[in-house]
Amino acid sequence: MNAASQQLDKIPVTRLKGVGAALEKKLNSIGIATLQDLLFHLPFRYEDRSRVASIGSIAAGDTVQVQGEVMNADIQFGRRRSLRCTIKDNSGFLTLRFFHFSNAQKSSLAVGSQIRCYGEVRRGRSGLEIFHPEYRVVRDNEEVVVDNCLTAIYPATEGLGQARLRSIANQALAYLPAKDNAQQLEGSALQEFLPPQIIQKFHLHSLIDAIRLIHRPPLETPLSWLSEGKNPGQHRLSFEELLAHRLCMRRFKSDSQQQPAPNFADSPELLRRFLAQLPFTLTNGQQRAYKEISEDLARACPMLRLLQGDVGSGKTVVAALSALQAIAAGYQVALMAPTELLAEQHYANFCQWFEPLDINVGWLSGKTKGKHRVEQLGSVADGSCQLLVGTHALFQDEVIYKKLGLIIIDEQHRFGVHQRLALREKANQHALNPHQLVMTATPIPRTLAMSAYADLDNSIIDELPPGRIPVNTAIISNDRRDQVMQRIEQACKENSQAYWVCTLIEESEALECQAAEVTAEQLAQQLPEIKVGLIHGRMKPQEKAQIMQRFKQGDLQLLVATTVIEVGVDVPNASLMVIENPERLGLAQLHQLRGRVGRGSTHSHCILLYQNPLSNAGKQRLSVMRESTDGFYIAEKDLELRGPGQVLGTQQTGLMSFKVADISRDADLLDQVKEASEIVLEQYPEIVDPLIKRWLGDNENYANV
Ligand code: ADP
Ligand code: MG
Repeated sequence: MNAASQQLDKIPVTRLKGVGAALEKKLNSIGIATLQDLLFHLPFRYEDRSRVASIGSIAAGDTVQVQGEVMNADIQFGRRRSLRCTIKDNSGFLTLRFFHFSNAQKSSLAVGSQIRCYGEVRRGRSGLEIFHPEYRVVRDNEEVVVDNCLTAIYPATEGLGQARLRSIANQALAYLPAKDNAQQLEGSALQEFLPPQIIQKFHLHSLIDAIRLIHRPPLETPLSWLSEGKNPGQHRLSFEELLAHRLCMRRFKSDSQQQPAPNFADSPELLRRFLAQLPFTLTNGQQRAYKEISEDLARACPMLRLLQGDVGSGKTVVAALSALQAIAAGYQVALMAPTELLAEQHYANFCQWFEPLDINVGWLSGKTKGKHRVEQLGSVADGSCQLLVGTHALFQDEVIYKKLGLIIIDEQHRFGVHQRLALREKANQHALNPHQLVMTATPIPRTLAMSAYADLDNSIIDELPPGRIPVNTAIISNDRRDQVMQRIEQACKENSQAYWVCTLIEESEALECQAAEVTAEQLAQQLPEIKVGLIHGRMKPQEKAQIMQRFKQGDLQLLVATTVIEVGVDVPNASLMVIENPERLGLAQLHQLRGRVGRGSTHSHCILLYQNPLSNAGKQRLSVMRESTDGFYIAEKDLELRGPGQVLGTQQTGLMSFKVADISRDADLLDQVKEASEIVLEQYPEIVDPLIKRWLGDNENYANV
């Protein structure tokens, strides 16, 4: 085949032998329309079918390939109808069992014919059996040929089997030019974009080799290489994909740095007055982070900075300092939080901090209605509102800022990456290119920071304010609930306070609130001497604020809450937290919750009250919480145990769902990818577009989702 004229991304799959309209439709349903799509439809595991085992030698648990003569094939009418077929070779008998089968299938298993089958052996009713083996009938006189490479297993779909996928993948692979002829693909979508310098420096295979290696790895390749990312073909493709993503993020960054932004000189006098009214001095970590931000704000291109710090490290004060710098220069600041409760806390805090400095602080949420809303929007539009605090309502179209200079986004992990980029787009509509400061609730693992946040600069507060005592964490089974009650009683007797957190049931906020109501009632009955309060996400903001106020004042001793208290709530006298069914939550979220205690000067405790039985994975995860109170460590573990999609909360939105790469598995590639991206940007800018197009396609425009 002459590949020179072949645009593999233009050739439809119907060009392949055996692909008619019906099969084309099935292939389309899994995103395969062209030969190129087929070549990028990668296997997720391999099987070794390089030899045929003798039936006498196999044992339950083995995955084997065997060949034998059909002795019988009958339909059995048991609890479930099944097709049972017995085969034999010269060493023994084996039963094949099919629960889904067609008449054609039954007749193909004619007595006396030879079949080759592959599958996992188990012990069944009639000795050794294979359920639903992959099989084919071997024609008379056909030699026993075995595969000469590992057999790829592809993501498939109903009615589209492995054998079929492999056969058409083989045909597509035949379109690839021979190794020494890769320039034949010049100008086609499978062109080698990476320059030799990068291929050599990072010991990569060529694109064509990589695709061959990944579809048809040689027999000596260990089966586990794919899952470990050690298949050199996969390594090359992961590298290229991560590079494309990084270049895309870098493009966002450099595009935005081309834009003009207002620059704010620092304002020592206002700062001094603010710091003077704080009951503490800044930690070194806070000072360093603010210095970095302050320098950015003084530049005439927009800041894009991520502020990381563990729970309780004092990010809010740093945000306040940054806001002051913008306000002193005559600009407005928008501070956005992911939940109403957290936004309200910020509002209360900032009012208390800023009003003595004669700064006008405003409030806006989706629930701000009527006259209030009109007034608030008016003061934002005329510039009299200098700091606007609220939820994502801050960026609805009708909110027009007179002179927005800085956007602060708190608890970034609650917002997807897309939302962040979309927000930036919106902010830019006002033609002011405000600076952006993004704060995380808990630290982000380094690998994620390097990929999902590659468009942001990074500041880290690496210490907690002095005097914090680490929270002691216990993992206790629900069977010992009584003991936990006693602990609560005792804590309250000692004039301390406690939280009882009910976790999400099946992602339903309504059910979670219900569970909290029931629990609060039960606890009130079981602990008659203790004043029990309840707070959840379905209560009106006023009710919530009132309950929080009473808890803060000590009128309530035990606060039953849903995960709404996860962020922001600050009651230093609370020293005990019980988290029910902690196995339902991610580690970062647990860490965040636990951060609500240990804010005062006494020893604090957190009880993870799990539901028996707990899976091994669950045990492992919870024990991380017992071992450590270091958010940076916990974040790394969370990523390791749950994967990046869950940690970032963007499974559906796609940015972090890679085709080939896997951030945890390929973590050690990221430094190289970073280096390569600098080389590309400096020396080969012409390949940036094609790479992004190959791997991100039309998704490139994240901001428009
Ligand atoms: P987070 O980083 O989790 O958002 P906050 O900004 O809510 O943390 O701060 C947590 C608590 O620590 C607050 O009560 C805050 O007033 C207090 N705090 C912040 N900085 C300091 C400091 N330098 N010294 C003592 N306490 C501090
Ligand atoms: Mg905070």
